[in-house]
Amino acid sequence: MGISSLFFQALVYSLVIIVIIASLLALMFGGSYLFAHAMIWPLYAIVVFVAIVLFFIGRLFFVEKRDLEQAKINLTKLLQLSEKNRLEAITEKDKTITVINTLTDGLIIINERNEITSINPEAEKIFELDANKLFNKPLQFLVNFPKAVPVAFVLNSGLSNILRREIQLSKDFVIEMSVAPFNLGKNKVGHLVSLHDVSREKMVEKMKTEFVSLAAHQLRTPLTVVNWSMTALLKGDFGKLSDKQSEVIDDTLHNNDRLITLVNNLLNTTRIEEGKYLYETKMADMREIVNFVIGGYGSDTEKKKIKIEFKSPESFPSTMVDIDKMKIAVQNIVDNAVKYSNEGGKVIISLTSDEKNITFKLQDFGMGIPKTQQVNIFKKFFRGDNAAKMDTAGSGLGLFMTQNIINAHGGKIWFESEEGSGSSFYFSIPILVS
Ligand code: ADP
Repeated sequence: MGISSLFFQALVYSLVIIVIIASLLALMFGGSYLFAHAMIWPLYAIVVFVAIVLFFIGRLFFVEKRDLEQAKINLTKLLQLSEKNRLEAITEKDKTITVINTLTDGLIIINERNEITSINPEAEKIFELDANKLFNKPLQFLVNFPKAVPVAFVLNSGLSNILRREIQLSKDFVIEMSVAPFNLGKNKVGHLVSLHDVSREKMVEKMKTEFVSLAAHQLRTPLTVVNWSMTALLKGDFGKLSDKQSEVIDDTLHNNDRLITLVNNLLNTTRIEEGKYLYETKMADMREIVNFVIGGYGSDTEKKKIKIEFKSPESFPSTMVDIDKMKIAVQNIVDNAVKYSNEGGKVIISLTSDEKNITFKLQDFGMGIPKTQQVNIFKKFFRGDNAAKMDTAGSGLGLFMTQNIINAHGGKIWFESEEGSGSSFYFSIPILVS
C-alpha cells in the first residue's frame, strides 16, 4: 500500500470521527434547545446517516484505489516475468537454431501436417537446394530438387514406416537416413529426418568385400585340388594305405571339406553384399529339398547319435524357389541343430502350408541361445558364446546367408530359443506359381 493511500485513508476516517464528535458536542450543548423544539431525533439520525455514507464512500474509494494499485504492481511483475521468459525463449531458440545449423548431419524438420518447417545448411548442401523455397511447403515438394528425389520417394511412402534406411544419392554418395517422431508432452508434433553421410564407411566396406571375395576365389581352387588328391589317396589310386595313413588322410579330408565350406560361405556372403547373389527360381517341392538335405547327413549325426525326424506331408503345394539356394538355407538350419545338440539329441522338422504360405519348422533340444545374444543371431560373423565353446569351427555366416536367401524369396525367418532347453527355427515363403 502506498503512503498517499494511507494518508487518504487517515484523512477520511478523521473526517468521519470529527463529524460524529461535532454532532455529539452539538447535542450536548444545544441539546436542551433542540429537545425543547423536539428536533433531536431527526437531526441525530441525519448526522449518523451522513457519517455512515461518508465512511462507506471513503472506504470504497480507498479500497478501490488500493486494489488498483495492487493490480498495477501485479501487472508490472507479470509483464517483467513474461519479458524475461520471452528473452529466455528467444535465447533458447537461437541456441537450438545454432546447434541445428552447425550439425555435421543434415536435418529436416517436418510438422504434423507433413510440411517442411526447417532444413539445416548441411541438408541444403546434400540436396543442393534452397531451404527458403521449401519453408512451410508439403514434403512432396522435395521431388522438385533432383538430388533429393530418392529421399523424397522414401519419405513419401509413409514417415512412420521408416526408421533407418541407406539411400544411394549418386555413385559414390550414400547417406543413412533416420526418421524419428517427436512429441511435445503426449502430442505428436512432427518428425525429425536426419541424414548421415556414410559414403566413406560404404567404400571401406566395399573394399573389404572385394578383398574377401578375391581371397576366397584364390583359395577355392587349391582346396578343391587337395580334396581330389586326398580322395584319390583314400581310394587307393596310388597304392594301398595302412590303417594309420587312411585315418590321417580321412581326417585331413574332413578338415579340408570344412575349409571349402567356409570359403564357399565367404564367397556367398560377398556375393550377397555385392548384390550379385542371383536367384534362378523354378517350381519346386519343398519336401524334396528337405529330404535331399537330410539325406546328406551321415557321419556327424551318427557320431553324435542324433536323430533327425521329418514327417513329409502327403500332399504339398509347389512354389517358385531357387532350389540350390534353398538347399543352402535349409542345410544351414539343420547343420546348426546338429552342431548345437548334445549327444543322443533329436531334431524334428515339419513343413506346413496354408493358401498363401509354406512354413518350415525345425525344433531341437540342444544348448539354446542366451537371451541377451538373440538380437545378433542373423548378423554376419556372429557366434553365440556357448556355441563358440561347443564348436570352435563355425564362421557365423550360416544364418546371415539363410536370412538373405529367405528374404530374397519374399519370406521371413524367425526363431524361439531358451538357453539349455533348445531352439525352434522357422521360415515361411509365399506360394508363388510360375
Ligand atoms: P555358426 O553356426 O557357424 O556359428 P550361424 O550363422 O549358422 O553360424 O549361427 C550363428 C549363431 O547362432 C551360432 O554361432 C549360435 O550361437 C547360434 N545358433 C544358431 N542355431 C542354433 C541352434 N540350433 N542352437 C543354438 N544356437 C544356435
